[in-house]
Amino acid sequence: METILRIDNIEKYYGNKSSLTKAIDNISFEVEKGEFVSIMGASGSGKTTLLNCISTLDKVTSGRIFVGGYDITGLKGNKLNKFRREELGFIFQDFNLVEFLNVQDNILLPISLVNGDINKEKYTYLLETLRISKLVGKYPNTLSGGEKQRVAIARALLMQPRLILADEPTGNLDSRNTEEVFCLLKRLSEEFEQTTIMITHDLKLADRCDRVLTMKD
Ligand code: ADP
Repeated sequence: METILRIDNIEKYYGNKSSLTKAIDNISFEVEKGEFVSIMGASGSGKTTLLNCISTLDKVTSGRIFVGGYDITGLKGNKLNKFRREELGFIFQDFNLVEFLNVQDNILLPISLVNGDINKEKYTYLLETLRISKLVGKYPNTLSGGEKQRVAIARALLMQPRLILADEPTGNLDSRNTEEVFCLLKRLSEEFEQTTIMITHDLKLADRCDRVLTMKD
């Protein structure tokens, strides 16, 4: 087993002594390569803060985070940008596609940012499996929510990042699209041995993940 993510006694506090919010109060866990883990918990329990600390958008107050055995807690500047671009894939609740780029350019954007090579076979396979081959020339504002999220999945998976972080990826979708998007994300993650961490409020989806982590207060 290869450990992809190691969270080691992290704490994240906001504010100062007079008004301190303990958004994350000492948590530790590990995620192995290929695992599909869901994070659940009431609103305000620290799920987004945790994801933001892993994605390096936010800094922990104490503790360490290792991705692929590499301590990312102190990363700064170019090293931080390089890590985020090369090792992480993001899927958001509100899709976060670039409106002035067509579907193809959106999917290829992470690779072009690091001047990487495009795996053409994988690209074609993802388009077909996600049923978005016919959409490549379209712009995001002409797509449905389900289509946008399937494009975002292609964008996240094509790079083969070490870790995929999905923040309520089905939160803006109806039940039919929720089922389709989740099934595709799960299936493709398995096929490509991707490691995925997904925040969700949907107990039925969480139950179908390899493991559920629940954040308390
Ligand atoms: P969740 O995603 O589970 O709803 P969050 O991680 O968004 O929870 O928030 C956890 C706690 O940290 C909440 O009490 C929230 O108000 C607080 N919090 C989150 N971000 C900030 C911030 N930038 N400044 C101050 N408090 C924050």
